[in-house]
Amino acid sequence: MKRIALIAHDGKKAEMVSFVLRHQQILRFFHIVATGTTGKHIEDTGLDVTRLLSGPMGGDAQIATMVANKELDGVFFFRNPLDKHPHEPDVQMLMRLCDVHNIPLVTNPAGAELIIEALNQLGA
Ligand code: PGA
Repeated sequence: MKRIALIAHDGKKAEMVSFVLRHQQILRFFHIVATGTTGKHIEDTGLDVTRLLSGPMGGDAQIATMVANKELDGVFFFRNPLDKHPHEPDVQMLMRLCDVHNIPLVTNPAGAELIIEALNQLGA
């Protein structure tokens, strides 16, 4: 089973929910982890999600650890570039570790549309 992380900053959560609803059939066969609040929104669509801490409380850092441990096949991080984030250092760490470990990372919905199809075609 493919393992992915879904994260959406405030201001991008509606786009994440819309993405999840559009791809629900595919996502049912993925193991999904998410930061706390994003995870709650995804759960409300009916998908199973492993919810971690909220981003500002360390959720992005937890996902970064999973990346470093090679426990994820992709990270979908809908960032809000028009806002400030108290946990910006964690965000940078997560993106850096995706690059260090060559884990697919998308930071906006347009990229997510492409990567979800590719991951699905790669299979289990
Ligand atoms: P949240 O965290 O899903 O708990 O809002 C996301 C983030 O801000 O990194």
